[in-house]
Amino acid sequence: MKFGTKAIHAGVEPDPTTGAIMTPIYQTSTYVQRSPGDHKGYEYSRTHNPTRTQLQNALAALENGKHGLCFSSGMAAEDAIMKLLKPGDEVISTNDLYGGSYRLFTKIFQNYGIKFHFTNMGNVANVEKLVNENTKMIWVETPTNPLLNIIDIKAYGELCRKHNLLLVADNTFATPYLQTPLDMGADIVMHSLTKYMGGHSDVVMGAIVVKDDDLHERLAFIQNASGATPGPQDCFLVLRGLKTLHLRMERHCQNGRKVAEYLKGNAKVGKVYWPGFEEHPNHEVAQKQMRDFGGMVSFELKGDNLDDATRVLENLKLFALAESLGGVESLCGHPASMTHASIPREDRMKAGLRDTLIRLSVGVEDAEDLLADLEQAIG
Ligand SMILES: *Cc1c(COP(=O)(O)O)cnc(C)c1O
Repeated sequence: MKFGTKAIHAGVEPDPTTGAIMTPIYQTSTYVQRSPGDHKGYEYSRTHNPTRTQLQNALAALENGKHGLCFSSGMAAEDAIMKLLKPGDEVISTNDLYGGSYRLFTKIFQNYGIKFHFTNMGNVANVEKLVNENTKMIWVETPTNPLLNIIDIKAYGELCRKHNLLLVADNTFATPYLQTPLDMGADIVMHSLTKYMGGHSDVVMGAIVVKDDDLHERLAFIQNASGATPGPQDCFLVLRGLKTLHLRMERHCQNGRKVAEYLKGNAKVGKVYWPGFEEHPNHEVAQKQMRDFGGMVSFELKGDNLDDATRVLENLKLFALAESLGGVESLCGHPASMTHASIPREDRMKAGLRDTLIRLSVGVEDAEDLLADLEQAIG
């Protein structure tokens, strides 16, 4: 089945009791049993809920996995993955990581005796030097946020097989429309469904998709035992969003390309970060592992003056100044003071994240209007 057909049909069956073509919102906490232990597979909604089951199945199908698990946020999904580890275990990840992931790892799980290494993941041989007998997991995020570096998932899949490590891929920015990490050697795919997957800026939710039955069993145990599960109404909204994922992503990519090219041609703009440019340092890897280059574009202004960047952010009208990304509407953000404020400035600078960097989540509006908005704001 091709991707667009899967987005609409895969994993989702019409409601068996009524034939309703859209999955009903099973707004219930519990389920009647005929006799103790004699039930229809549903006992309590933290453990299972039919609306959530359909969403989990749809996600597993889209990621070419076998099992999906939904959580009340992307961070809750990450929290569950980290609970696979125990004190003394070590994790290697990128130094250009989503700020919330960095905060969870260093401010919470480090206190429980897990050790994290953050490094430039551009060179696999260099990263391999950090692997020791305690290393249990490699965590990649690609494209990265907000510098849009691309990490070679297949190369890390091979490294993980060699050393018997778990490879986790945060696929939030790409979505399975652009890349399916489980096909490239990842063991676990993680999502903030809040972004492109939900796609309409109306839900906060996260997910994990795996192929392996044993890994699924351990993660499902954590999902139920720790209990950060989403409600059925939110699951319904994400299911609805998924049905247009391929249409939205196609337009996000087209508009992203137009915005990146416009910015590159603007004399007041300095560096533009977008993996579709031939001169992007990881362009070849992006071309190899992604179907297209996505709707995220970051840039700096010439002169690197914070006041100039602030003025552009204030002047933009269609691009709303807000946290988050991946919705139908265009957003702009200032990573240094917003999404990445939890990363110390020194560490940000080391990773190349300057104070004047502006990040755009290019929506699915008409590109002409988006370019006109950028033109009036940048001048
Ligand atoms: C937003 C985001 C998360 C966290 O997800 P929430 O749904 O906000 O908890 C994790 N990773 C990436 C790349 C994100 O953009």
